[in-house]
Amino acid sequence: MTTAAPRSGLSRLSYETLDLYAPDRGPAAIDLSDNTNRWGMPPAAERALRDVPVESVTRYPELYAESLKQALAHYVGSSAGEIVTGCGSDDVLDSAIRAFGEPGEIVALPDPSFPMIPRFATMNGLRSVAVPLAADYALAADAMLAVDPRIVYICAPNNPTGTATALSVIEDVARRVNGVVIVDEAYAEFSDANALALTRRLENVLVVRTLSKAFGLAGLRVGYAVGAPRLVREVEKSRGPYKVGALAAAAAVAALRAGRDWVDTHVALAIANRERLCVELAGRGYGPVPSRTNFVFVPIAGADAIATGMRERGVAVRALAGITQVSDALRASAGSALRISVGPWPQLAIALDALDDARRACA
Ligand code: PMP
Repeated sequence: MTTAAPRSGLSRLSYETLDLYAPDRGPAAIDLSDNTNRWGMPPAAERALRDVPVESVTRYPELYAESLKQALAHYVGSSAGEIVTGCGSDDVLDSAIRAFGEPGEIVALPDPSFPMIPRFATMNGLRSVAVPLAADYALAADAMLAVDPRIVYICAPNNPTGTATALSVIEDVARRVNGVVIVDEAYAEFSDANALALTRRLENVLVVRTLSKAFGLAGLRVGYAVGAPRLVREVEKSRGPYKVGALAAAAAVAALRAGRDWVDTHVALAIANRERLCVELAGRGYGPVPSRTNFVFVPIAGADAIATGMRERGVAVRALAGITQVSDALRASAGSALRISVGPWPQLAIALDALDDARRACA
C-alpha cells in the first residue's frame, strides 16, 4: 500500500491561493464605494435597535431566524418554508455553494461579476470558471453551460456592470443545467425585474437577496434566499444554526414589518439620482453603462489614479483594474473602470466635482 507524501503546510492546499478579502475601505467624508444605502435605514429599524430588550441578547437567538423568515416571506410574497437566512448574503451564497457542489465540481460565473464567488468556490473545494460576458454585457449563457457547471451563478443585475439579465435567459439556463442556478439579486429593489416567480416554477433556482442595500442594514449582516422548500433546506443545513444575531434579527423584522414606504421612497430617489448621474457623466464625455442598480459603472482609463485623486478630495469610489475587456468601452479603457454608488444628490454633486478635479490633475 502506498501512502501519500506528508503535506508541509497546515491549511488546505487550495487555500494557498486565497488571501484575506481586502477592499480599499479607508475613511472618506463621502463614501460611494460599497453600494450601501447612503440615506440611512428605516426609522423602525433604528427604534428596534434602541429598544431591544436586554434578555434577548443574553440568550441565543432563534435557531434558524423563524420570525425573520416570516417577515421576509411577507415581503417577497412567499411562505416561510421557501426562505433561508444568513449572516449577510455572503453567508447565504457561501452556504449554497457548499450545499450544492461536491469538492472539485464547477461553479460557472460571469466575468466580470461579484468577486466573492470564486473565493467561496475555493473555500469550499470547488473550482470556479469565469465566463466573459457577451456584447452589451449580456450573459454568455451557452458558454457558461459549456463548462459543465454544477452551479451557475448569475448576478442580476450584475455587480459591477449594473446590467440586467433577461428572465427568459435565466429560465433557459435553469432548464438546461444539471445542477442549481443561484441568482444573486442583491440589487433587485433598484431593478424592474426579479426572478422570484422562477423559484416557484423551477426546483433548481435559488434567489439570493440582502438587507444591506435597499434596506440600509449592511452593518447588521442580514441576507436571505428564496427557493423551493427542498432547496432552501439544503442551504440551511449547510449554513448551520444561530447565524443571524438577535439584534440584527430584531431590526430586520421591524424594518420589514414597517411596510414598504421608507424603502420604496429611497429606492425611487436612488433611481432618479442614478439617471441624473448618468446624464451628468455623459455630458462630461464619459460612457456610463445604463444601470439597474444603485451604482453606475464607468469604463475609464487610469481609474486607479482617478479614484486616488477623488479620495484626496474626500470622496471614495471603487476603482476596478484588469477587467476582462468585454466591450468596446472596456477595450478603450484597457479594462479599467470606476464604480460609483448612488446617494443623495449633494453627495453626488461633490463627487462629480472631485472627479473633474482628479481628472484634470491626472491629465
Ligand atoms: N452580492 C452582491 C452582488 C453584492 O454586491 C454584495 C455586496 N457587495 C453581496 C452579495 C453581499 O452583500 P451582503 O453580504 O452584505 O448581504
